[in-house]
Amino acid sequence: MSEHCDIEHMKNNRNIVLIGLSGCGKTALGRQAAERFRMPFIDVDESVEARAGMPVREIFKLYGEPYFRDLESAMIQEIAPGGGMVIATGGGAVLREENMRALRENGLIVFLDRPPENIAKDIDCGARPLLAGGTDALFRMAEERRPLYLKNADVVLPCAGSPQEALEALAAVIRDERPGRGFAVIGDPIAHTLSPLIHRTVLDALEVHEPYDAIHVPKGKVGGFVEKARASGLKGFNVTIPHKKDILPFLDEVEEEAALCGAVNTVVARNGKLCGHNTDMQGLLAALQADGAGFRDKRVVILGTGGAAGAIALKAAREKAYSITVLGRRAHKAEEIGESVKKLLNIPIQAGILDPETALKAAAEADILINATPLGMSGYGEDFSSLDFLERMPPDSLVCDIVYNPPKTRLLDKAASLGLKTQNGLAMLIYQALLAEELFLGRKLDKPALYIKVSDTLSLK
Ligand code: NAP
Repeated sequence: MSEHCDIEHMKNNRNIVLIGLSGCGKTALGRQAAERFRMPFIDVDESVEARAGMPVREIFKLYGEPYFRDLESAMIQEIAPGGGMVIATGGGAVLREENMRALRENGLIVFLDRPPENIAKDIDCGARPLLAGGTDALFRMAEERRPLYLKNADVVLPCAGSPQEALEALAAVIRDERPGRGFAVIGDPIAHTLSPLIHRTVLDALEVHEPYDAIHVPKGKVGGFVEKARASGLKGFNVTIPHKKDILPFLDEVEEEAALCGAVNTVVARNGKLCGHNTDMQGLLAALQADGAGFRDKRVVILGTGGAAGAIALKAAREKAYSITVLGRRAHKAEEIGESVKKLLNIPIQAGILDPETALKAAAEADILINATPLGMSGYGEDFSSLDFLERMPPDSLVCDIVYNPPKTRLLDKAASLGLKTQNGLAMLIYQALLAEELFLGRKLDKPALYIKVSDTLSLK
C-alpha cells in the first residue's frame, strides 16, 4: 500500500481518544498502541506544552487553571478533526463539554478505568499540578470525575491489572474499530515473540504502511480466532506454538509443504479464502543455502522428534539428502517420522533413541547435525547432558541449532571451539519471516538485503 493510500485510510478512520484520570496510563499505553497499529499518536498535554513553551505545571503556576483549559480546548478543536490517530487527552479534558463534542465527532472515546489506589502507587503526585495535594487530591478527583468519564465513554476499559493487560485490552478495541488491515502473529504465550519486530522492520523497509500485531490466542481457541479473522478481513497472519497443527481444519486450503508437515505457520487471505502455508522449512533451507550449505547428497542427523524435527526430515528428503537419521528421547516418535519420510521418498532413514552411544555413532557419520529440541533454549531449563558426540563429527561438517535464544547455545559454542561450521536459529527465523512476507504481499522480495536490515534490528534489541 502506498503512503498516499495510507493517508486516505487514516482520514477515513475514527480517532481512538483516551480519557481517564491523570496517571492512568493514557500517554504510555496510547503511544505503545499507536506504534503497534502504525497510527499517529498525539498527547494533548504535550502539544499544549510545545505551543506554550513550558510544562503544564508552569502554565498552571503562572497563569492559572482557566488559562490552561483554554489552551487545551483550542488544541483539541485543532486536533480532533484529523482521522486515524490515537489521542491521549489530559485528565481534565472531560470538564468542558465542547472538548468532548469535538472529540466524539470523529473519535471512539475509550475510558482507561484505573482505580485511584493503583495510580497512587506509581505516580509522583507532586509532578502533576492538580494532584499537588497528594493522594487525597487524587481520590477526590477520582470521585468527582469518574461519572464524567463514564458518561462520555463509548468503551470502558477496566485497567486494574498489569500495563501489559491494559495494552492488550486497548489493542483489542483498536482491532475491532479498524478491521481489514494488516497482519499479525497468533500464539500462546505471545508476549516474547520476535515476529512483530521482524515483520515491522520488513514492512518499514518496503514502505508498506500496514500494522503487524501480536495477538494472544489461548490453546483450543484457534477456530474462534480464524472466524474473527475472516470477519475482520485481516490480510494474513503467522501462527506459532501451540496452534501450528490445530489450525489446519479451520482453513479453506493448505498448500503442499504445510499439508506434508501437518503444520501451518503462515495464513494468507486470498479471494475470500484462508490458505495455510509453512515457510519454516524453506526458511531453514534458505538459511543453510545462504551459508553455502544445503541438504542435497548430505548425511543429515536430526535431534528431536517434534513438529520442527518431522518437517526438517521431510524437507531433507525432498531436497535429496543422502541419508537421514532421526534421534529422540522416545523411539516410537522417531520411527513415526521415519515412516512418514519413507512414504514420501525412498531415502535411507534411520530412527532411534537419543542416548550418548547412538549420538556418538550418528555424529561420526554426519555432514549436517541439526538440534530440533528446545535443549539449551533460554528459559527451558534443560541442556544436553553431554556434548561429546561433537568430537566425533567429521572436520568439514556443520552443526545447526534451530534454537535462536540465546544466539550461541552451548552446543554451538563447543562445535565452534572444535573448528566445526555452525549456524544458529536466527537465520532460519528471519528467512521464514521473509518468505511469509512474500506470501502476504504477493511479490518477490530482495531477501539478502532485507535479511541484513532485520538482523541489524535484532542485534540492537
Ligand atoms: P515440539 O514439537 O514441542 O518438539 C520438541 C522436541 O524436543 C520433542 O521431540 C521433544 O521430545 C524434544 N525434547 C524436549 N525436551 C527434551 C529433552 N529434555 N531431551 C530430549 N528431547 C527433548 O517443538 P518444535 O516446534 O519442534 O520446536 C523445537 C525447537 O525449535 C524449539 O526450541 C523452537 O523454539 C525451535 N524452533 C525454531 C524455529 C526457528 O525459526 N529458528 C522454528 C521452529 C522451532 P518429546 O516428543 O519426547 O517431548
